[in-house]
Amino acid sequence: MEVSLSCPHCTKTVSVNSFQAQCPECLRSPFPFLLPNESLEQCPVCGCRDLYKHKDFNRNIGIGILIVGVVSAYWTYGISLLVVTALDYLIFRGVDSVGICYHCLTQYRGKAVAPLSEFNLTLHDHYRLVRENRAK
Ligand SMILES: [Zn+2]
Ligand SMILES: [Zn+2]
Repeated sequence: MEVSLSCPHCTKTVSVNSFQAQCPECLRSPFPFLLPNESLEQCPVCGCRDLYKHKDFNRNIGIGILIVGVVSAYWTYGISLLVVTALDYLIFRGVDSVGICYHCLTQYRGKAVAPLSEFNLTLHDHYRLVRENRAK
């Protein structure tokens, strides 16, 4: 499990590679809400029960491939378009999902991400408002 988070104690942005790890900045556990089975039913950092997953896919690479395909379509009689579509699909299928907490935006990479739901805009907006109100 690889986790990128803003530490709940010292608020520094850190990355750790297990739930047993300490925050490298303040040496405290950044996971006060970790469940005994290490599942992501709730966020181990903030205890929020809403997390989503999405493909850990670099959009810029995808767009770059697409541009190359479109530009060379003229000389390849459109064959390059088929190639980039297939390539895009293969890359997209091959990448792992990243799990993200709606509330604290911690990113999780690992097996526990699989059961999470897909992104939900309503929840996303709800938690954005929660964060903004807290910041005031
Ligand atoms: Zn810390
Ligand atoms: Zn969280």
